Amino acid sequence: MIRFKDVSKDYRTKDGALTAVSDVNIEIKDGEIFGIVGYSGAGKSTLVRMLDGLEAPTQGEIDINGINMAKLKGYRLRKQRQKIGMIFQHFNLLWSRTVIDNIALPLEIANVPKTQRIARAEELIKLVGLEGREHSYPSELSGGQKQRVGIARALANEPTILISDEATSALDPDTTNEVLDLLLKINKQMNLTILLITHEMHAIAKICQQVAVMDSGRVVESGSVFDVFRHP
Ligand code: ADP
Ligand code: ADP
Repeated sequence: MIRFKDVSKDYRTKDGALTAVSDVNIEIKDGEIFGIVGYSGAGKSTLVRMLDGLEAPTQGEIDINGINMAKLKGYRLRKQRQKIGMIFQHFNLLWSRTVIDNIALPLEIANVPKTQRIARAEELIKLVGLEGREHSYPSELSGGQKQRVGIARALANEPTILISDEATSALDPDTTNEVLDLLLKINKQMNLTILLITHEMHAIAKICQQVAVMDSGRVVESGSVFDVFRHP
């Protein structure tokens, strides 16, 4: 379970302090697909960076299965961060590496031996439907294919949580739906918890069970997608 408890984050700026996140309480159960929706500047990325241990909250606590991210350092922080896979709007692939080498990169960093790396990357290529593109470079792929590489790479270390930070925002509607279907499949097959960060309501409505709506750093509404998006 992921728990944000009374979380606030202030940034120091030249004209004082800016409150990016204010008093956020969110609980995400294991295996759930949880959406966080809000316009640009709502505080979504700040929440993600805190969950990934890249920044500490000014107040409150974020924990994953009872472990407070802000208290971890060094080896234990790296181990905990391996449990979180991330995918991004602009894919963040390495352009000089092939598909299979991009996917195997996190395993290389984790010092997994080469034969094991390749075997794992090949499994992931099948899972995301990129058979035959192993030796292509990212520049030879469509947007949807690039994001499939991003998803496979995010899963390389067998995380328990996948964070999608606007991962479909650069894709056309059909490709967006394909990527969302893939996330749904992965969620079911691997019992992976997915945090879907987006400004696109329809993406949330399509695959999420629970949603929190953010505005100006606050959660202004939350609950099941059915309840929150229901029109009276
Ligand atoms: P979102 O991801 O929803 O677009 P962000 O979390 O990026 O929102 O930003 C929330 C607010 O915090 C915005 O006003 C943004 O300008 C501000 N902010 C984000 N990161 C920083 C930072 N490192 N320093 C100062 N202000 C920041
Ligand atoms: P996104 O909306 O995709 O998160 P942003 O353009 O908001 O992208 O932020 C990109 C980077 O710039 C982030 O690392 C964030 O911390 C930083 N940032 C955002 N707003 C500010 C700000 N007002 N001052 C300083 N850094 C900021």
